[in-house]
Amino acid sequence: VRAETVLDVKNIEVIYNHVILVLKGVSLTVPKGGITALLGGNGAGKTTTLKAISGLLASERGEVTKGSIKYHGEPIHHADPAETVKRGVVQVMEGRHCFEHLTVEENLLTGAYTRKDGNAAIQADLEMVYGYFPRLKERRKSQAGYTSGGEQQMTAIGRALMSKPETILLDEPSMGLAPQLVEQIFEIVKSINEEQGVTILLAEQNTNVALRFAHYGYILESGRVVMDGPAAELRENPDVKEFYLGMS
Ligand code: ATP
Repeated sequence: VRAETVLDVKNIEVIYNHVILVLKGVSLTVPKGGITALLGGNGAGKTTTLKAISGLLASERGEVTKGSIKYHGEPIHHADPAETVKRGVVQVMEGRHCFEHLTVEENLLTGAYTRKDGNAAIQADLEMVYGYFPRLKERRKSQAGYTSGGEQQMTAIGRALMSKPETILLDEPSMGLAPQLVEQIFEIVKSINEEQGVTILLAEQNTNVALRFAHYGYILESGRVVMDGPAAELRENPDVKEFYLGMS
């Protein structure tokens, strides 16, 4: 049985500042409950694709000028980030983006600000997040800006979880982290995917780790999808081995 498609990106073109064409017709589908990886080198267009989906492009003077993005069949390519979060899609931005002056716990709670299901449910989810990231529980009273890079990445993921999302767009979770920590974060993302049923679309330059944890992958080069397939097949593909797996 094929899983239901939650997110359907069709042939999108993205232009920054009215002139710079960055995505030249990108299509991808994300099945419910899966981990889908968006791979490719620096500047290939991974972040731009995620921002087009979450609605964060507009704040960077970017625009989807062709194609469509549908979430559960509804067009979202003109939605703003707040609307997208309400639909259940939340982006964890590259470079962690915590509120540095707030504590770890306050950061997590900001993720819940649109929820209307009451304090008890929010507290229960806070405990759920601490269950996945025991380190954050230890550091909950620390100012986020003074925590380590790994802890900030955990805080950013935890904050996204606090909005009770159906889908998380995860941008470059491995960035700047030691290999052991990267492994640990991917393990936790996998558990969240399996246990909470959260659908994941992740952008990664680290092809090696991404293809071990994802179910399906798309490879982007200069704003185009050049290859896609089940992660296990991509891992064995000679071109992927030569051009991508050697790098990471
Ligand atoms: P990275 O891993 O470096 O983030 P990426 O695959 O995510 O790479 P993007 O960040 O989507 O790539 O960038 C794709 C291209 O778009 C790059 O050439 C980049 O310079 C350009 N670009 C990104 N943001 C903007 C912007 N706000 N204005 C103009 N050009 C931009």
